[in-house]
Amino acid sequence: MNTAKPARKYVPQPEGLNLEFHQACLAAGLLCLQQCSGCGQFRHPPRWYCPSCHIGNYGFAPVSGIGRIYSMAVNHFTVDRGWVDELPYITAVVELDEGPRVVGSLRGVQPGEASLGQQVHVSVEPRGEEFAYICVNTV
Ligand SMILES: [Zn+2]
Repeated sequence: MNTAKPARKYVPQPEGLNLEFHQACLAAGLLCLQQCSGCGQFRHPPRWYCPSCHIGNYGFAPVSGIGRIYSMAVNHFTVDRGWVDELPYITAVVELDEGPRVVGSLRGVQPGEASLGQQVHVSVEPRGEEFAYICVNTV
């Protein structure tokens, strides 16, 4: 009889700009991206200065979450026992309609059913006070 407790997924503890990103997503319950206060361009991952106009003023604002699969990988192994029950799972890079790319866990499809360019919706799933999983959902 196996009496071991099910493993929990590791939850990162973000710091600095990454913490600001996760806190914005958690507060809104939506995917939020860093947005330049000067030119309005969204960027991800968060950076101190805008790559377009080079100013350091920024905020975080909700985005549509709509995008297309830019790249993906099927994971058949994991070093985090918390993910074992979900193997094989897909990690996808999504190019958002707003421009930036985000990385998340693709849900709702089996490996082989997803394709590059497929439209998806990115949402966030709270994990504690300071971290949100990035979830990629088929539409
Ligand atoms: Zn800018």
